Amino acid sequence: MIIIFGAGIIGLFSGYELLKKGKKVKILDAQGIKADATNAAVGMLAPLIEAKPQEKEIFDLMYESKKNWEENFKNEKNRILVGFKNNNALMVALNKDDEERLKFKKRFYKKIGFETKFLNANETLKIEPSLNSNVLCSLLCQNQDQVNPMLLKNFLTKEIKSLGGEILKIRKIKKLTINKNKVSFNNETIDFEKIIISCGAWSNEILYNSFGIDIPSRPLKGVSLLVKSKTNIFNHNLWFRNIYIAPRTNGILSIGATEEEKGFDSSIRMDELYSLTNSIWESFPNIEDLELKEIKVGLRPTLIDGSPVIGPFKKISNDVILSFGHYRHGILLAPITADIICRYVFEKELPKRFKFFSPDRFNL
Ligand SMILES: Cc1cc2nc3c(=O)[nH]c(=O)nc-3n(C[C@H](O)[C@H](O)[C@H](O)COP(=O)(O)OP(=O)(O)OC[C@H]3O[C@@H](n4cnc5c(N)ncnc54)[C@H](O)[C@@H]3O)c2cc1C
Repeated sequence: MIIIFGAGIIGLFSGYELLKKGKKVKILDAQGIKADATNAAVGMLAPLIEAKPQEKEIFDLMYESKKNWEENFKNEKNRILVGFKNNNALMVALNKDDEERLKFKKRFYKKIGFETKFLNANETLKIEPSLNSNVLCSLLCQNQDQVNPMLLKNFLTKEIKSLGGEILKIRKIKKLTINKNKVSFNNETIDFEKIIISCGAWSNEILYNSFGIDIPSRPLKGVSLLVKSKTNIFNHNLWFRNIYIAPRTNGILSIGATEEEKGFDSSIRMDELYSLTNSIWESFPNIEDLELKEIKVGLRPTLIDGSPVIGPFKKISNDVILSFGHYRHGILLAPITADIICRYVFEKELPKRFKFFSPDRFNL
């Protein structure tokens, strides 16, 4: 039996892929955790927009995962079930400063092999007439998609159950004790073939309490909004300097996100709301026509170097696999993470590009 701790997107996607490959899977998730990251995520699948100079390994991983998304969701029915949309993205400049930033990005994207298109104000407003008339210019990036994380979670939960997997709610795990292939927690002991620890921002606390090992990590708090407009007002995924907008169906817009160092605080503060609404007001007119549907908060699991840790925790056991720290890319990275996890579980030789993400890089 493969035991997965954590039923966020990383635990669920990994469980789903393992079940499809014939493994028995049990997923254990804590009751009452506030602000898990997946529930607050916007669901952008945008490797190019997230690309940064000096971060080649994570860009390559995001890009490969984006291809996996397309492979995994070829079936039109499933695409609708998870809200997967092939979209182009528009990065919008509202002032000179933004314009310079977009020019830099265009050059950078070209350098890493991707062509993007600069549009002036008229060209921008022609394809997105609902933007504010103060738009200066924009950068059009092809093929930066989106998915609806809540629909995705529902889809995976149903699939996992229909493939015979179990998802159980338990008391929050504070500590694991491993003895050969038995794991004890919350006064319970179970046998395992492999364990996967995918408890997002809470994973490191479990590792530290259990084994005294600290992987340098912290939660990065994010607030996002769901709003509804009377009609479908946007055609592209939109990226401004401080916010990004994923237009869904029926006029719903998912808008993200603040990013702050506030420890494990799961409350929603007025300054966070102000920051989002002020940016929305700057970006498009008639915000009085938007109805606020939901305010969400999530803690992004973030490691010191911004990349996730995926691989066996050799110091404790080759059968204990870590999979967390996906920061602001966990939805995008879920399919490739699941693929890497399957390779470890089935003890297949791993390509070098995936070894970069193993816990070994922290010299634990
Ligand atoms: C506002 C916001 C917007 C985002 N937008 C995007 C986006 O557009 N695109 C993208 O790719 N990514 C985005 N992200 C990032 C993405 O959401 C995360 O990287 C991803 O959800 C992490 O998934 P996870 O499964 O590791 O963690 P989580 O979703 O946090 O799940 C962790 C799970 O572990 C369980 N758990 C925790 N502690 C314990 C314990 N002690 N015992 C048992 N179970 C436990 C929790 O109950 C939870 O179910 C966004 C994040 C935020 C906050």
